[in-house]
Amino acid sequence: MKVLVIGSGGREHALVWKLAQSAAVEQVLCAPGNPGIAQEPKAVCVPANTTDADEVARLATDHKIELIVVGPETPLVAGLADELTRRGLLVAGPSQKAARLEGSKIFAKQFMRRHGIPTADFVACGDLPTARQNLNRWSGPVVIKADGLAAGKGVIVAANREEAERVLEPILAGRLVGESGRRVVLEQRLEGEEVSLLALTDSKTVLPLAPAQDHKRVWDDDRGPNTGGMGAYCDDSILSGETARRILDEIVRPTVDGLRAEGILYCGVLYCGLMITANGPQVIEYNVRFGDPEAQAVLFRLETDLAKLLAAVARGELHNEALTWKPGASVCIVASSEGYPGTYPVGRPIEGLERAEGGGAKVFHAGTAMKDGRVVTAGGRVLGITAHGPDLASATRAAYESASQIHFEGMHYRRDIGRKGLTRSRPL
Ligand code: AMP
Repeated sequence: MKVLVIGSGGREHALVWKLAQSAAVEQVLCAPGNPGIAQEPKAVCVPANTTDADEVARLATDHKIELIVVGPETPLVAGLADELTRRGLLVAGPSQKAARLEGSKIFAKQFMRRHGIPTADFVACGDLPTARQNLNRWSGPVVIKADGLAAGKGVIVAANREEAERVLEPILAGRLVGESGRRVVLEQRLEGEEVSLLALTDSKTVLPLAPAQDHKRVWDDDRGPNTGGMGAYCDDSILSGETARRILDEIVRPTVDGLRAEGILYCGVLYCGLMITANGPQVIEYNVRFGDPEAQAVLFRLETDLAKLLAAVARGELHNEALTWKPGASVCIVASSEGYPGTYPVGRPIEGLERAEGGGAKVFHAGTAMKDGRVVTAGGRVLGITAHGPDLASATRAAYESASQIHFEGMHYRRDIGRKGLTRSRPL
């Protein structure tokens, strides 16, 4: 089988790496890919404008691609999966209608309300007076969310009413996150611990992946601004059996069933960003694709053939599949450029990449480029250093040992990835 992966980040590197391990896969094309992906066995990177469905379809037809896996949300929200499916291609990734779960926070919240899926109480607002009127709706702090895609920058967890007030005018005027912010969701702030639960679904069968925890803030102890994600770990013992069951019964299955009841078939990866509150799990957000860096940690533990799984997702045959996992835990540490998530320099040479993989760890490339035959930095999040171990403590040690082998000027990574899991006295 020949597979085409769309995207160029750490998530796509992990997808290509895992897909290439399948005996059934002879080649993995990645558009546009990155220098780390280009080094994977069976992998070939090809330049392409991945928002242009005609171009992607031509690429797929020219290379006799049998399965297309779409990594990022933007092409899904723009309808890439629909266009490719219409041309007779097999795609693992939801339709434009289904992708509204991520593309519009207002759609997602109203959908959850319609189907009784637990989430924070909210109100949707499109103008300043309405938004101001609703700021006192709840006694505690309020969260303001841009309706549209905002590359992780569209959520403001306001500490108090004054901060919320300060944000409302610029976001609604389109100055904070552009057009995405002209409508917003105001919602009640939830208290608890966050967990990412991803599931594969063909709209009938739901196969939950092992749970993971992301680290959104740039500095240790969850301080500093939000980022795309500074690291993640995957460990079954994050969740108790009871909480895992509730997530499936109260959130994941009702989401897939609710969409189907509305005539929307979801075929792909459904990512549920959850807050585990005193009243049980609640949805913070949906994503319509693998998370980054959760994908790196989760796929590192997956033993099942990913190509077979994603082809079953696309064909609507997931009922024939089951998942097996490496026991233990995996950890992905993101190494970022100095200044990220603000502005950052690029073009800095990266040393120690081979050495870092010596002990069985894997370095997934996210923002790298080739310059004069050397791998250099080319993005905010540069690398995802990933390791597995028989338990979380050993996986964490292995990932940090690997990270210590790598150097580039201004390299930053959090020193506390996995700490919440190591210090938690019992599962959530
Ligand atoms: P989102 O993009 O919706 O996942 O939001 C980004 C981050 O904001 C989440 O990972 C949470 O840390 C935080 N957040 C979002 N909504 C809430 C909420 N209702 N209560 C508390 N924190 C939230």
